[in-house]
Amino acid sequence: MKGAKNLRMLVTNDDGIYAMGLWTLVAALQQVGEVVVVAPDREQSAVGTSVTLHHPLRAREIEPLVRGIRSYCVEGTPADCVILALGNLLNSRIDLVFCGINDGSNLGDDVLISGTVGAALQGYLKGIPSVALSVGALKDVHFDAAARLAAVLARNFEKQALPKEILLNINLPNLPLDRIKGIEVTRLGRRSYSDEIQPGHDGKRDYYWIVRGKPDWQPEEGTDIWAFTRDKISITPIHSDLTSQKALSAIQDLPQALLKGLT
Ligand code: MN
Repeated sequence: MKGAKNLRMLVTNDDGIYAMGLWTLVAALQQVGEVVVVAPDREQSAVGTSVTLHHPLRAREIEPLVRGIRSYCVEGTPADCVILALGNLLNSRIDLVFCGINDGSNLGDDVLISGTVGAALQGYLKGIPSVALSVGALKDVHFDAAARLAAVLARNFEKQALPKEILLNINLPNLPLDRIKGIEVTRLGRRSYSDEIQPGHDGKRDYYWIVRGKPDWQPEEGTDIWAFTRDKISITPIHSDLTSQKALSAIQDLPQALLKGLT
């Protein structure tokens, strides 16, 4: 069923504008409403919320991989793409921002460096409901379930069944739809990596690679990692308030101690 074409959606990603996940998403969302693409011209994974302020941004319209979709690639970060799209390139209302479909999960602490979440965050900060979509694999990725889920989700936004002030971080296991075991609303879990530094020398100077080791999963019940490791889709509503409520009460006496030390 074709939509009434009144829902206007911006699609971006952090894997670069020619990534298959982005166009699979575009093809599905096109059934629900109008889609425009503004995405980085190259791989920008793990750039997080980074915004380019110290050199100019260039954008150019490209031939879309799905017919009839107005598409721009930007020499910038995923967050740059959303800021540029909403502030200048599109000149029209956007009702929903989708970022993905990302190759690889963005679970738990990953959201802090995720370019996928970083782009969606910009939509959210501008008051537009935004969704970060990831599938947990880097090879042989099943984008299908995520694309269909996005379309159904968009219809729910269209019916105003969801709050406007929302940023959803969605992760799917890398499975066909009929093998996914359910959908859970979750909170962020804990996942850290053992970062390994691999040094080298390029003939002129020393260099270093940060190599991410195996993640240390903490699949505590109710978390995104817990759902994901049970072959379920995880939906986590996140926001930009990083205040630690726990530490906030624990450091109530700190100002007094500091003042004492300063005088
Ligand atoms: Mn990515």
